[in-house]
Amino acid sequence: MFPAPEQNPSWESVSSRIERESLTFSFSFDAGLLRFSFSRSPNEIHGVAIECRDLNGKHLGSFRLHDVGFGATQDFALEFQGLRARPSGALTTKADPFPELRRLHEALTAAIEAGVKVTSDLHDNVDTAICRITDALAPQLKQSDWEKMFSSTMIHPGILHLRGTSPLLSAYALMRFQEHYESPKFAGRIFSRKTFRSYYAGEKEHGGFSYYADWAGFNFRSDTVFSLQRNPRWNLEPAERAVLKALQKPGERFYVIGTYRDTQEIENLHHEACHGLYFVDGEYRRSVQAVLREVDLKPMKKFLRAMNYTNQVLDDECHAYLADGVDNLADSGVDLRSVGITDLRSYRVAERKLRKLFEQFFAEQKVRD
Ligand SMILES: [Zn+2]
Repeated sequence: MFPAPEQNPSWESVSSRIERESLTFSFSFDAGLLRFSFSRSPNEIHGVAIECRDLNGKHLGSFRLHDVGFGATQDFALEFQGLRARPSGALTTKADPFPELRRLHEALTAAIEAGVKVTSDLHDNVDTAICRITDALAPQLKQSDWEKMFSSTMIHPGILHLRGTSPLLSAYALMRFQEHYESPKFAGRIFSRKTFRSYYAGEKEHGGFSYYADWAGFNFRSDTVFSLQRNPRWNLEPAERAVLKALQKPGERFYVIGTYRDTQEIENLHHEACHGLYFVDGEYRRSVQAVLREVDLKPMKKFLRAMNYTNQVLDDECHAYLADGVDNLADSGVDLRSVGITDLRSYRVAERKLRKLFEQFFAEQKVRD
């Protein structure tokens, strides 16, 4: 017996296959709780289709990038092929159970910023589409999964810093804490996630629930914590119970600020720490109020109301947004120039004074009242 020589494929068939592979791609992989499949959109030369399923195979949603250009198509494919090549353990040992959803969200956001048209079968607004997937996956996580995602430390007497690992899931877990504290509609009330979702979507211009993608910093008081902890009518989810468990509660009066691991985390933490000091330190609060009286806050407050802050927190928010930096205001949604305020000198003076006050009081490490 002698093995038959392998049939040599013709050069033509080899080269045409390679050419086809370089122009089209299609693959799928599991990541955390998600199964992704990528393919070139059938109807477009340079389009990409991405389908997300859960691990049971249930379709969660799909995205299409239209006319992205061949180079960008390749880059996008390579980025996700790179993810697939990582050992699966590397994806799941990190406390974020689906980092790929975050990566996908970042990639889609970058594509939109680069002028690429992105559509989804979930919602026209990509943030909303990503939130829908988050809402579909979050209930599949166990309480122990959530507990791995949160830790807290006391960063100043009376101020607890709660740190999450995942952007979307941190916002998922903290939403009802935050909105019980400062929603114009729900502050002080007990409400279901579903009720809040439809209210929030109704407030957005795009008509979708994009909350988990919209917010990066969180702040609320101890009475909010105790309301969720003590009132069974909240009907808490494992995510919210994990937050309560992560919070070491230093007595009956304290303030919680929440951030997640991210490149913007330091800035977010500074903003939220301003709120914390404003609550725990009466002398700081009075000094801040004296600075705020020197500037015209009316136009700022108009923007903040439109961003869905309740009236009671507007002074505190003006203080934190000014301390973030006048040059960052427009990016945060407080675009004073767009309403004809071009002379920002008085706001810059306030920024400098507020930053000085923060440094002085935060360093003192004691609670005054
Ligand atoms: Zn704030």
